[in-house]
Amino acid sequence: MIIKNVTVIDGTGSAPRPGMDVTIADGCFTDIRPTAAETAAAPGGHADDQVIDGRGHYLALGLWESHTHLTGHAMALPEAERVPHVRQQLADYLKAGITSVCDLGGSAAYGRMVREAGQPGTAARLFYAGPCFTGPKGWPLQVHGDRTMALETGSAEDARRAVQNLVGQVDFVKCIFDGKDGQRLPPAALEVIVAEAHTAGKKVLAHVATGTDVRDAVHAGVDAIEHAFVPQDPADLSEAEQAAALMAEAGTLFCPTVVTWEQLGHSGDRAHLDRLVADGIITAEEAAEVAARPSYGKPFPHHPADESRIRFEYAMRTLPLFHDAGVKLVAGSDIALVMPTPASALLRELQLFAQAGLPGLEIIAAATGRAAEKVGKHDAVGTVTVGAAADAVLLDADPLKDISHLIDPQHHRAIISAGRLAQR
Ligand SMILES: [Zn+2]
Repeated sequence: MIIKNVTVIDGTGSAPRPGMDVTIADGCFTDIRPTAAETAAAPGGHADDQVIDGRGHYLALGLWESHTHLTGHAMALPEAERVPHVRQQLADYLKAGITSVCDLGGSAAYGRMVREAGQPGTAARLFYAGPCFTGPKGWPLQVHGDRTMALETGSAEDARRAVQNLVGQVDFVKCIFDGKDGQRLPPAALEVIVAEAHTAGKKVLAHVATGTDVRDAVHAGVDAIEHAFVPQDPADLSEAEQAAALMAEAGTLFCPTVVTWEQLGHSGDRAHLDRLVADGIITAEEAAEVAARPSYGKPFPHHPADESRIRFEYAMRTLPLFHDAGVKLVAGSDIALVMPTPASALLRELQLFAQAGLPGLEIIAAATGRAAEKVGKHDAVGTVTVGAAADAVLLDADPLKDISHLIDPQHHRAIISAGRLAQR
């Protein structure tokens, strides 16, 4: 396949390159070069290649949903339905232009079965953590109580045994490092998990609640912080400044999941649904469907609405500060409780990044190359570069003019997964 004369947005944060020919073969980008009159003879091109005219169009890497939960929720279904259900979810993601999805806590066995169940190019790629580590009676055990989904860990020795057993079965490791209810994973255990995972070449992602959790997790050496934290004083930006300086220095990535806190802070608030409609994220019909859900407006365990609103507002104020300090931001949505689809939750996350004042190229990198980097897959997939897996969206409108063009199906001319045109 050759996409001719297209503007490439490669996902690394570099400026767009107009007038490029992009050749795809065997599932990978094999040649990217300026369009010239004689490119019919470009290496890797064949007479029978599918040629797509990219004039006036934009080729961006397919988006990543870098924080969600698939296999964990599927465990509530009868056994025979679990794999088909998650495959269908991944197919729906692909139809929305999201070509990779990271499952941050669930079942390693089901992650593997889902990945082996389908052909490349028919669904979004799945990368998974398997069960997450948590402290004694820690989140989410006190709610769900399912000990196959979380590894309850009280000591460094427990951690070593469990991580050595797990690390070969998963793409990366997720730790709940949440000190809110005094049930946090011991820092010595987190350090052991990081050391063992890094020895095996795997990244470690830490879910946090407070600024203290952020500091301790960065000191333990985690690769990414998941979730914006609850500030001690919402009026005091210095706590964010200190966290940003620490993370920039350590090279720790930051996936704030602001849309999680927006949803948990505004469930039951019809004015919030009106804002989503006004922002073009959902339709009035979808807003009515969300408002009719039994869970709408019900308290969410562990995350009270008022605290979630503080978390949301503080994150929106301080995201530019993290960006300016040099912290690499990553896009992930976590939940779609107050959203019609998981894809719309990711789009809202990108839109919130834009509303917070982040530049468009930074937002695209956060939803592509940075996400791949977060889970240690950026050498294989995550950028439009020669040798990387060919996952891409071809858009007829500039996503740097309006970030919503990335996910709006009206602007998708083609979705490419593993080098194949996806069914639309
Ligand atoms: Zn999560």
